[in-house]
Amino acid sequence: MRNYFLCCIALLLTLNLKAQHTERCGTPPVKSEWLKNYQANPDAYAKGGDTTLYVPVTVHVVGTDVGTGYYPTEDIFRTFCQMNVDFEPVGIRFYIEGDLNYIDNSTWYSHTTFTDGTVMMETNRVPGTFNCYIVEQATGAGGYYNPVSDAVALTMGNLDLQTWHTWTHEAGHYFTLMHTFLGWEGIDYNLNEPTPESVSGWFSPIPVERMDGSNCVEASDGFCDTPPDYLSSTFNCDAAGFSLQLQKDPDSIFFYSDGGNYMSYSDGICNSYFSQEQQNAMRANLINNRQDLLTNQEVIDVPVTEVTMSLEPAQGEVVMEAPALRWSSVQNANRYYYEVNRVASFPSSLRIKEGIVSDTFVVVGGLGDDTNYHWRVRPFNTTYPCEGEFASSSFMTGELVSIDGITALNDLVLYPNIVSAGQTVRLETDLDSRVDMQIYLLDVNGRQVSTIFKGQANGSFLQEIQTQALNAGLYWIAINVDGVWTQRKMVVF
Ligand SMILES: [Zn+2]
Repeated sequence: MRNYFLCCIALLLTLNLKAQHTERCGTPPVKSEWLKNYQANPDAYAKGGDTTLYVPVTVHVVGTDVGTGYYPTEDIFRTFCQMNVDFEPVGIRFYIEGDLNYIDNSTWYSHTTFTDGTVMMETNRVPGTFNCYIVEQATGAGGYYNPVSDAVALTMGNLDLQTWHTWTHEAGHYFTLMHTFLGWEGIDYNLNEPTPESVSGWFSPIPVERMDGSNCVEASDGFCDTPPDYLSSTFNCDAAGFSLQLQKDPDSIFFYSDGGNYMSYSDGICNSYFSQEQQNAMRANLINNRQDLLTNQEVIDVPVTEVTMSLEPAQGEVVMEAPALRWSSVQNANRYYYEVNRVASFPSSLRIKEGIVSDTFVVVGGLGDDTNYHWRVRPFNTTYPCEGEFASSSFMTGELVSIDGITALNDLVLYPNIVSAGQTVRLETDLDSRVDMQIYLLDVNGRQVSTIFKGQANGSFLQEIQTQALNAGLYWIAINVDGVWTQRKMVVF
């Protein structure tokens, strides 16, 4: 095992010299021992019938040292969901394990060597998951599978090229697939020269695949249902999905490359499938060689469909500083994406806060006084992160005034205001007109602990505050009357 790793490290260092020539994908063009053994006798390997296999993915979102430059969440989800669509016929479904893992490291964010990429992958590996790193630069390639660390790097630029199915392609490598043009990496095919019987390969010559299928097992990628393909640069397809570039095999039989295969270098508009043998190999690899990915098969495999959620604060409500945004839980959701924005159309340029939580509330601090904010939340689950509709609302942050600033409140009494836990506190006042009133219990940091009252009130007013569930400490009773806030201190010992 150790020798295998050392050999691979040497191999990857060599690849640094070749990286400039393989801009599309920097995966070493060397078959794994597992794939060689598998292709020698594929029938000997279990493939799990037509059972759907669920694979946990750790998404590492790499940014600069100062925490900038991350690939946007919605783009991560979009391309992740595309991978799931592409893998549907394979019967493999990916789900995001845990939270997105944000890493701040400029060297890794834009790494120029496999050595740096390997250090990144060794440092941040989450065992038992398919580790994927989204970076700005990856050795000059658009992405690669690193066999030393058994993880993939994906560049934002390539993920942006939606037709390229980059994540799907690198996941294919992860499950041991090679390019359909294996051996031609870094070589420019020339129709005007005789096609060789073999290309050099990294360690030993690789036979060039023939059109008659006579050498399909030992040639190129070793799959007989992926026809010859010698194109190692991005190519366009015709309407039928074949390359425009003509090629001829060693027997001088002419052909065009099939751009439909995800493991080819077509520009992707025609990318639409893994061949049956590729699918079988990936399932066999997962079941026989990657059992640690299959320990949890009890995942939510239904997208979120519910669209009605109740939100608090509701539309236009006045809140204290650091309000808790709350929403009703939604069936089949295990995560919620929330956003606070200055504008109701939620432009990203005016986004104030965003995040993903598994709770049904979040406390947002750092907001300005007397300001209108819009917020929205989208329920989803980590198997279908693109499904689930936003529900939105707005709130107004209040301005704190002294008790005398609220004319409707007369003789406000909070008694006792130093209590032992369990004691009941009485809040009494006399209102000289009908008002909209909200009363919240806040902790010492201004975060909402509970709602004491919410509604209309007039005349003499009494509210009892229960304290048995409170830890010892300083609390605030925040009172809002017709949009103006005041607060009173309360100590629990
Ligand atoms: Zn590749």
